[in-house]
Amino acid sequence: MPHVVTQSCCSDGSCVYACPVNCIHPSPDEPGFATAEMLYIDPDACVDCGACVSACPVGAIAPDSKLTPEQLPFIELNAAFYPPRPPGQKVPPTSKLAPVLPAPEVRTRRQPLMVAIVGSGPAAMYAADELLTQPGVRVNMFEKLPTPYGLVRAGVAPDHQSTKQVTALFDRIARKRGFAMYLNVEVGTHVTHADLMARHHAVLYAVGAPNDRRLDIPGMDLPGTATATELVAWINGHPDFASLPVDLSTERVVVIGNGNVALDVARILTTDPDELARTDIADHALAVLRDSMVQEVVIAARRGPAASAFTLPELIGLTATNQVVLGASDREWVQRDLAADQDPLTRAKLEILGKLDDSAAPITRPRIRFAYGCTPSRVVGENRAAGVEFADRGVTQAGLVLTSIGYRGKPIDGLPFDEAASVVPNEQGRVAPGVYVAGWIKRGPTGFIGTNKSCAMQTVEQLVEDYNRGALSDPDTKDVADLVRSRQPRVVDVAGWRAIDAAERAAGQQSGRPRVKVTTVEDMLTVAARAPEPSVRQRILQKLRL
Ligand code: NAP
Repeated sequence: MPHVVTQSCCSDGSCVYACPVNCIHPSPDEPGFATAEMLYIDPDACVDCGACVSACPVGAIAPDSKLTPEQLPFIELNAAFYPPRPPGQKVPPTSKLAPVLPAPEVRTRRQPLMVAIVGSGPAAMYAADELLTQPGVRVNMFEKLPTPYGLVRAGVAPDHQSTKQVTALFDRIARKRGFAMYLNVEVGTHVTHADLMARHHAVLYAVGAPNDRRLDIPGMDLPGTATATELVAWINGHPDFASLPVDLSTERVVVIGNGNVALDVARILTTDPDELARTDIADHALAVLRDSMVQEVVIAARRGPAASAFTLPELIGLTATNQVVLGASDREWVQRDLAADQDPLTRAKLEILGKLDDSAAPITRPRIRFAYGCTPSRVVGENRAAGVEFADRGVTQAGLVLTSIGYRGKPIDGLPFDEAASVVPNEQGRVAPGVYVAGWIKRGPTGFIGTNKSCAMQTVEQLVEDYNRGALSDPDTKDVADLVRSRQPRVVDVAGWRAIDAAERAAGQQSGRPRVKVTTVEDMLTVAARAPEPSVRQRILQKLRL
């Protein structure tokens, strides 16, 4: 009864270190870890102890006997990662554990190492975690929204609740000694880069890639066009997108691009709203989806099936829950690709694509159609989008056109910026001594939540090295909290976030949902203000930590 890694694997590698027989690969020290679509358990070596289950922050691992029917393909997927062995040959037990990368040792001085982290998504939280493994370190985190955790809250699709479990890990990090959070504080508006530099040894930007890549074709300014990431933010109740005008009174939606974000959007648009009602989807989105007339979402890729950008675990998950179909010419293309040399992951994707239902069959429930060789040349329509014209493939009628062609980082005041790659140029996270980056603003918009762990560790290593060699000047000792409060009286702290979190969960409990999200900044601030005042003891401890 070996254990199996399933779809929501976040690739942060925690399970690798928990495993007593080193049977989960690729491990963070192995080639291929950074680009792996997920991690895999060797079924022959697994001793079934379950240590990986407790270590996984997103509940992605289960014994093979406890998988849901949709998860069964992951048994083979895990096993297929390991070379075939003669039948009956057991893997010899090993005591050689995956080498844990040691946290960089901070050489403490009289004053603690003070680090400001800008952003509160996965890269920011993993960086804080890594820094706070050491004594004598203080982390002040700044986030422009009154709620933390970035794309985990606003980007992960609501039907992927398992992935959102990583917030329990982030909540634990936020409780660590030496950590303070300044929410509803925008760096560049309320405090400047220079303010942060003056009060910290180092400033680490983990601000992600907040903009969408834009598709530059005629018609993209028509009503009825949007980006998939805007739609995901609307679905997830991000306050900046709560009033996005989403009109689903159309039978067909076209999504341009076929990465995992495209799959997320197509899945939500074709899933039974009663199922979505059991998630933390924003109420405004659920109401619109209940009235939706969408019958087909076409995911249009400019290249062929073998070049599909979505990952295999997401394809397996999608085809297990939603109806996905393929047209005759695309099916032929899949067969041509299958006849050519392919790496095992691509071959596995193609095999699933080859078994999809035929798009010629009548539509019986909302479905998804993959289409290939679709290079968009313009959005057609007079006063609003009516379809997309694809070079070589003609016009596909659609009342909503979404682009899902990736994210872009945006420049940060006072820091260099590489326009082409849309990242801050850096050497392993170091921009200059005292200034660092982690996550998508460092390496571009690729990878999964857990990819940010090793990314943040690498950055922290550079930061600590600079500190230890005396390259970071000691900051002034003025109180950061006083400065923030003078610039933004409506700052929200960890206690304020806990009040929002508790209120959302309580509202969810009443309706059998994980939470009901508060979706306006004003409402968030009202709820946060209900947080209990810190006790005298807590106030003294807070002062002592400075
Ligand atoms: P992505 O994986 O980079 O996919 C971008 C898509 O846009 C590709 O199909 C690409 O096609 C297409 N594209 C780019 N420029 C185009 C153009 N000018 N015209 C037409 N098509 C164009 O991006 P993403 O879906 O935004 O995902 C970003 C990252 O987040 C990925 O690493 C993804 O795995 C991750 N993510 C993961 C999950 C999950 O694990 N559940 C969910 C969401 C996102 P070409 O290949 O031809 O360039």
